[in-house]
Amino acid sequence: MAQYDFQVKRGKPIDSGRLKKDLNKSASIAAARAFSEQIDKGAHVSECPVCRSVSHHKLLTIYGFDYHECEGCGSAFVCNPPPEEALSAAYRSDYYTQANKVLYANDSIIDYRVANVFVPKIDFAVENSHPSKKTWLDIGCGVGEALSVAKNRGFDVLGLEPNVMEAEYAAERFGIEVRQDYISKDTVSKYRGQYGVISMFSVLEHVPDPNQILADVSEIQEKGDALVIEVPHFPSISTMSQMTFPNHINRMMHPPLHLFLFSLRALEGMLGRHGYKINAAWLFGQDFYEMISTLGLFAPDLNQSKLLSALSPMMSELQAVIDNHDLSDEVLVVAERI
Ligand SMILES: [Zn+2]
Repeated sequence: MAQYDFQVKRGKPIDSGRLKKDLNKSASIAAARAFSEQIDKGAHVSECPVCRSVSHHKLLTIYGFDYHECEGCGSAFVCNPPPEEALSAAYRSDYYTQANKVLYANDSIIDYRVANVFVPKIDFAVENSHPSKKTWLDIGCGVGEALSVAKNRGFDVLGLEPNVMEAEYAAERFGIEVRQDYISKDTVSKYRGQYGVISMFSVLEHVPDPNQILADVSEIQEKGDALVIEVPHFPSISTMSQMTFPNHINRMMHPPLHLFLFSLRALEGMLGRHGYKINAAWLFGQDFYEMISTLGLFAPDLNQSKLLSALSPMMSELQAVIDNHDLSDEVLVVAERI
């Protein structure tokens, strides 16, 4: 496995019982494909938006969008992203809203997600940071899972969420303050110096210019403040599986929702350029499940349910092999402003 100048945690136990929820993902893939295909494709960009390198090559086309791999930083990015208006329209679409209601703003699973998905992430962030202020700003807070945990850990919390449905859900469900606001050059002064921790879970992969948002966040924070970022990781066994079956994708390499999938080196370089050093990183994922559930689409007679039941008891161990070789599909980093 690769060596880094910071601690890297690898792997997370998987609750296999929960994985069976989307065993038959054909319908979800068909919807994901229809959504992506009707969105306008833009002109090709010349530079990697993550590290500005002009050395990159095409990996493949997914639903009309070209993913390139950067030779400078090792990230994957959509080289022909939609024009700005088309991208914002995609986030206002029924497809996006409905998907979020099922996956996130859903009373039947939210407590499970908080306890099993967000408690470990927030605790990892707290263990690996030393902010002088017990205040937490979550940019793109979604339905508020992360902030509900941070609040329980004693932080004064504020969420920013442009999506009205999610912002209202977060405020009602967890009693936290959520503003329908976003970080930009115009709003930096409102938030400067106030937040010991800033987090962005599943944000950087969605924004057209991740360097701009990091520059703005860097202006808000002071020496010693913590920045917590979670993004899709590249390369991973999930992305390799998806590149093998590019017409059967509904997450990770799903354009244009995921404009970027980041290597850990790319995150290290990008954070360094904006005045941060990484204290710790955590690689984990659902790669083995992604691979098996995709293969199942091509072998309907195989009885995927029985196969997964048989593999369930060893799912965590199988994923651990992937995590231990840095091929997980998610990465979380805790960085410190220097
Ligand atoms: Zn790059």
